[in-house]
Amino acid sequence: MTQPADERFGPGEGVGRPQAPPPEPLPYPAFDGHCHLDMIDLAVADTLAQAASAGISRVITVGVDTASSRWAADCAAAFPAVYAAVAIHPNETAAAATTAAERDTVLTEIARLASLPEVRAVGETGLDYYRDSAAPQVQRDWFRAHLDIAKQAGKPLMIHDRDAHEDVLAILAADGAPEQVIFHCFSGDAELAQRCAHAGYLLSFAGTITFGNAAGLREAAAVTPAELILAETDAPFLTPSPNRGKSNTPAQVAHTVRALAAVKQLDVAKLCAVMEANGERVFGPWPA
Ligand SMILES: [Zn+2]
Ligand SMILES: [Zn+2]
Repeated sequence: MTQPADERFGPGEGVGRPQAPPPEPLPYPAFDGHCHLDMIDLAVADTLAQAASAGISRVITVGVDTASSRWAADCAAAFPAVYAAVAIHPNETAAAATTAAERDTVLTEIARLASLPEVRAVGETGLDYYRDSAAPQVQRDWFRAHLDIAKQAGKPLMIHDRDAHEDVLAILAADGAPEQVIFHCFSGDAELAQRCAHAGYLLSFAGTITFGNAAGLREAAAVTPAELILAETDAPFLTPSPNRGKSNTPAQVAHTVRALAAVKQLDVAKLCAVMEANGERVFGPWPA
């Protein structure tokens, strides 16, 4: 019998591609630090079961607007293996509000969600100068507002930075960064990675690090201390090699973890243990 509470966590729309085959299980528990469970074309329970078989015991599902942020918080409340991040994505900022009063209402709701115990980050927020769905000035205004919310809630700031490295770093420096900052789907080079590491920011690497043309990204991971590294899928997007072209799920983070271990010249289980500790330090503590 289908219950209304379950319907909310049924299959999402997906990206219209076949699912990637399950990876070989990791030798030590790991987690997916950034995904969009609501966009994956599997029921949440099935996605989590698949992830668990690959050794992925936890996921952080990320909101991009008010509705998906509420959904993420509800999903985290319903599933012990799920935690949430809430925010208005930079590409959604122009559509999120047309008046100052509407903007205040939206930000008040994000702040309310950010204060919930199952919500472990404010994100994804930041700057995306690659797409032009919102003017840079509008994006910067919302990014600053999210930065304040993160500080007030005492939660990490999960940053989406696309073609906007310098402005992101300048705003963090000018406004004062929260205690924990994560660059989701890090896309910079070794020099940027060193600047972020110097500031104590965490770099979350996605499946892009497994791509043949991503030598710069692998150099960035190589110079980043393991204590500042996280792994994520950004599922259903950015499926890691060897499954490019298929639909991504949190289980696939196992490929990214193995690629990171190779770059760091660390045993896979050892890197997983370090990243588990990083996750607890930044997002946690996870309940036992
Ligand atoms: Zn993003
Ligand atoms: Zn994302």
